[in-house]
Amino acid sequence: RTEEPWKPFNKSRVYMADLESTLHYSLRVELAVHAVIKGVALKSLKKYISVLTKYFPGRPVVMNLLKSVNSWLQSQSADEISYVALKEILDNTAQVPNTALPEGTKWVGCQGSQPYLRRYPCGVWTLFHVLTVQAKILGGSDPQEVLSSMRSYVHNFFGCRPCAEHFENMAVESLMEVNTMSAAVLWLWSRHNRVNNRIAGSLSEDPHFPKIQWPPPDLCPACHNVMDNREHRWNKEVVLPFLLSYFNSSRILTDYLD
Ligand code: FAD
Repeated sequence: RTEEPWKPFNKSRVYMADLESTLHYSLRVELAVHAVIKGVALKSLKKYISVLTKYFPGRPVVMNLLKSVNSWLQSQSADEISYVALKEILDNTAQVPNTALPEGTKWVGCQGSQPYLRRYPCGVWTLFHVLTVQAKILGGSDPQEVLSSMRSYVHNFFGCRPCAEHFENMAVESLMEVNTMSAAVLWLWSRHNRVNNRIAGSLSEDPHFPKIQWPPPDLCPACHNVMDNREHRWNKEVVLPFLLSYFNSSRILTDYLD
C-alpha cells in the first residue's frame, strides 16, 4: 500500500474530514467485528446513533444518512440485529436520495507520522469533544446524555480494550457528578488531559505530536494561571469558552472533503 502524501493542516483547528473518517471507521470497521449486536450492546449502539443524529454538525448528506440509520435502528424491536443488516442501511444510499457516508478515511488534523499513530483514536476524542460542545450550544437538557452514550460506546465497541477499561474507570469515579451541560464539556476535557498525562512518553505517542496538557499556553494563554508558588492552575472560566469556541461547528474546516 502506498502511503498517502502528508496533508498540510492547521494544528489549532478541527477538520470535518477527521470527523467523517471517524464515523466511517466506527460504523464500518469497528462495529463490523460484531456479527451480531444484541442486548446492552444494541442499546448502546441505539443511543450512540441517536446522539450523533442530534448533535453531529455534519454535512446534509451525512446527517440524512445518520437519520436513516437512526430511524431504522429505533424501529428494530428484536433484542438483536446482525451487522450485515446494519451495513445494508449504511450503504443503501441509492434508495434514499442525498444520503451518504463517505467510504474510507482521510485523516487531516489526526494524521500520524506512522500509520499506527493517531488517526482513529484521535478522531474519537475530537468527535466526543465536538458532541459535548454541540449539546451545550444547542441547549441540550440532559448533562450526561452525550457522555454516557460515549461511555457505553467505548465500553462495548472501542477496539483498544485497555483504553476502554481506563475510560470506564474514570467514568465510574466521577461521571455522576456532572450536572450541567458546561460541566460535561469540562469533564471530558479534564479526563482527556489525565489520559495525556498518563500516556506521555509511551509507545502510542507520535513524536511529532507530543502529549501535553491541553490547550498549551500558545493556544490559550489566559487558560493558564501560575500561582505565586509557581504552581499551575487552570483558569476554568477561560477554558470553558475556549473549548466552546475551539470545537464550535462554525469553526470546523471542510478542507480535503470530496
Ligand atoms: P489525542 O489525545 O487523540 O487528541 C486528539 C486532539 O485533541 C489533539 O491533537 C488535540 O488537538 C486535542 N486535545 C488534546 N488534549 C485535549 C483535551 N484535554 N481536551 C480537548 N482536546 C484535546 N491510549 C493509550 O495508550 N492508553 C489509554 O489508556 C488510552 N485511552 C484512551 C481512551 C479513549 C476514550 C480514547 C478515545 C483514546 C485513548 N487512548 C489511549 C488513545 C490516546 O488517548 C490518543 O488518542 C492517541 O495516542 C493519539 O494521540 P493524539 O496525539 O492524536 O492526540
